[in-house]
Amino acid sequence: MARQFFVGGNFKMNGSISSIKEIVSNLNNAVLDAEVEVVVSPPAIYLQLVRESIRSGIEVAAQNVYDKPNGAFTGEISVSQLKDSNINWAILGHSERRTILKESDQVVASKTKYATENGVSVIWCCGESLEEREAGKTVEVVTKQLEALKAQVSDWSKIVIAYEPIWAIGTGKVATTEQAQEVHKAVREWLKSVSDKVAEDTRILYGGSVSEKNCGELSKQPDIDGFLVGGASLKPAFVDIINCRK
Ligand code: PEP
Repeated sequence: MARQFFVGGNFKMNGSISSIKEIVSNLNNAVLDAEVEVVVSPPAIYLQLVRESIRSGIEVAAQNVYDKPNGAFTGEISVSQLKDSNINWAILGHSERRTILKESDQVVASKTKYATENGVSVIWCCGESLEEREAGKTVEVVTKQLEALKAQVSDWSKIVIAYEPIWAIGTGKVATTEQAQEVHKAVREWLKSVSDKVAEDTRILYGGSVSEKNCGELSKQPDIDGFLVGGASLKPAFVDIINCRK
């Protein structure tokens, strides 16, 4: 079965009621490639606004979710609260949370396990720093992150992997098609250690300064199954990225 192309929009901590209404209206009025799965991820406070106003067919993701049921966890959102609000996706392990919020590989894996076992699909992010890339450690770093995930997760059907080199996020420095494809291929090879089926079925997205200008070439790579888009998902050009294969 061919992997469905996937485009995620990570708004990060950006937007206001009016700007997010404008993004939603732009998506609602656009002609979108029907073969592409689209998931947008606004800040928590706007999840409900987007859920209630976005066209059917586009899913909504939280930018974080906790690995415990409801309770005394100030500032966190639970899986059951997401599901109660018809939010069926979460982004976990984004490098900004790994580096700024100090989320370890194990914490990210635990949250991913809890979310997927309780019915929330996950865009699980991984990627290396510039220093690690320059030291030739890219595949080693990504493999370590994947191993931590494998140690806790058993159902991979609700996971989409986003390879996001940290040096390419928000910097305008996109990985070359060869650099991206090389890591995606290595991730797919590694996924065979889970099973051949998981390697064949799991979508691997590229993230890091994706724009309407570079998405076409990247999308032609055999192991690139879509994108996780930050900055450009706030702009009308997000539509061109969704439609990059048309
Ligand atoms: C991201 O935040 O996941 C991302 C890839 O950001 P940008 O597209 O802005 O580099």
